[in-house]
Amino acid sequence: MTRFEDELKNNNFVCSECVKCKHLVWPPSDYCNKCFGDVIWRPVSKKATLVEFSSKDGKLFCIGEFENNIRVFGTLEGNSNLIRGQNLTLKYCNYDEMPKFVFQTD
Ligand SMILES: [Zn+2]
Repeated sequence: MTRFEDELKNNNFVCSECVKCKHLVWPPSDYCNKCFGDVIWRPVSKKATLVEFSSKDGKLFCIGEFENNIRVFGTLEGNSNLIRGQNLTLKYCNYDEMPKFVFQTD
């Protein structure tokens, strides 16, 4: 289990940031994918932007983007009048064989 997955299990969404070039490494890794520098792990902002969405069997699915860089797939709760680019908040995350993200509309 990776650090990233461990933290998700505890409802912490973290990412690795390069110490040298400040690049936010995604997918998260123990070294920078741009300059191979060392990374520190830090929380990702809970604020996301709605990139894409769809509904299936009454459930809403979406892709949310964090910090202009990190895109994740998740489910969405709240208002169903959705517009691409609107603000979302990460309500909950977990890890169960794959990352799970639950967003809510603001
Ligand atoms: Zn770097």
